[in-house]
Amino acid sequence: MRDFAYQRAHDVSGAVALLGADPEARYLGGGTNLVDLMKTGVERPARLVDVRELPLDGIESTAQGGLRIGATVTNSDLAAHPEVRRRYPALAQAVLAGASGQLRNMATVGGNLLQRTRCGYFTDLSKPCNKRAPGTGCSAIEGEHHNHAVLGATEHCVATNPSDMAVALAAFDAVVTYESADGTGELPLAEFYLPVGDTPHLETALPAGALITGVILPPVPVAAHSRYRKVRERASYAFAIGSIAGALDVHDGVVREVRLAFGAVASRPWRAREAERVLTGGPADAEAFAAAADAELAAARTLPHNAYKVTLLRNLVVALLTELTEEAAR
Ligand SMILES: Cc1cc2nc3c(=O)[nH]c(=O)nc-3n(C[C@H](O)[C@H](O)[C@H](O)COP(=O)(O)OP(=O)(O)OC[C@H]3O[C@@H](n4cnc5c(N)ncnc54)[C@H](O)[C@@H]3O)c2cc1C
Ligand code: SF4
Repeated sequence: MRDFAYQRAHDVSGAVALLGADPEARYLGGGTNLVDLMKTGVERPARLVDVRELPLDGIESTAQGGLRIGATVTNSDLAAHPEVRRRYPALAQAVLAGASGQLRNMATVGGNLLQRTRCGYFTDLSKPCNKRAPGTGCSAIEGEHHNHAVLGATEHCVATNPSDMAVALAAFDAVVTYESADGTGELPLAEFYLPVGDTPHLETALPAGALITGVILPPVPVAAHSRYRKVRERASYAFAIGSIAGALDVHDGVVREVRLAFGAVASRPWRAREAERVLTGGPADAEAFAAAADAELAAARTLPHNAYKVTLLRNLVVALLTELTEEAAR
């Protein structure tokens, strides 16, 4: 590992100034992703600016009726918060479905949003990878890609975003807030992650050196009737091979409002807007759920070893929306 300097920041503007003064510096949240990448040499910062002591560890209600979640809130505290569990249960479930108890105690909201892909070639310095080394090629397309993207990928990169939390945040139209050298800013989650295009190394729209200060959840009444489901290759402590966050308001068998987002199928959490459109105002039954999933997944482009994800996601949509419909009928 490259030698690095370490500094703890105590206020937001000081943290941003430290990054601005040193282009080789990086923020350190819980370190559960960044330090691993430093050990393998994928990341080589000269300085770490620890943000865990910043006063960004609160969760509070907004005047609009939503929630403001600080960037240094740990994953454990986020999942345990009573208002998160009551008003956005899929978010609490998504966070609890990720990593292990020990990791969730360390990992932060800001770090979770910026964690890097788990594509094996990204962390293997001996293999070409456009995301790690732009212009070198993508090893996954001809190689191992059973857990790679089926939506929104390009020939330049087929990696998936590994965050469970971000999938629920996408379903609820969360907004990421940040502080940069130019002042404060906001990015809706739908714009936070950039499309892959031919620049897979550019992952987010955050300005250079910006510090994520938090996430705002708008008031989303339907989110109180939400759920997260994750499929993984072993029962615990594994990244998703497919996941879904869904919320449903159904009345007299008709869908009044629905929110759906998919995980582990694209380079960013995938808001299933076409499926939502097809379902809204129509019947809440398995046939309609499957048709909506098919409408969304018509855009899927698969590789030889990941076509199973299309069926997996279709089944997840039907299962999750059926559960929520049955729950509403009770
Ligand atoms: C074995 C293992 C299994 C895991 N399983 C899952 C899983 O199933 N699902 C899942 O979602 N996650 C999983 N994770 C990932 C884990 O949740 C992430 O490592 C964690 O969320 C990253 O948070 P962190 O605070 O430790 O980030 P760090 O490692 O500290 O930082 C990650 C990145 O974010 C940047 N950063 C951190 N905070 C800020 C900020 N406030 N502003 C700007 N930049 C910032 C850092 O510079 C770095 O680039 C797993 C991790 C491990 C090691
Ligand atoms: S899928 Fe993306 S991260 Fe993986 S090898 Fe290809 S370019 Fe790299």
